Amino acid sequence: MEGKKKYLAEERYYGEKVIAPQNPYGLPRKEIEWYPKIDYEKCDPSKCDYFCVDYCHMKVYKQVGNKVVVDDPYNCNVPSQSCAPRCPTGAIIFPSKEELKRQLRELRRKYGYATTVP
Ligand code: SF4
Repeated sequence: MEGKKKYLAEERYYGEKVIAPQNPYGLPRKEIEWYPKIDYEKCDPSKCDYFCVDYCHMKVYKQVGNKVVVDDPYNCNVPSQSCAPRCPTGAIIFPSKEELKRQLRELRRKYGYATTVP
């Protein structure tokens, strides 16, 4: 184990980016506002060695200099938020499940229940 990153979940890390489904629930991914935001008041990479960058195999996060940014928000796998409770400082924020349901209801009104969307 020596030399390995403390929080790296290797079994989840495929070495290259995994592309998330782009029509979850048969709805267009780009219209679903589901992705993490980082509370920079709390984020402290010195406490985790950029855990979220290594953990997320969808490569939503990216290290830029000495901070982490949400680089590819729409590749976040709806409704996954497994990174959030693993952040040691509680800096990762997702919308509530209620908010997600509200958005999905709105999109259902717009697109119906089709399994493919334009
Ligand atoms: S958001 Fe959390 S897990 Fe990611 S770098 Fe900041 S403190 Fe670490």
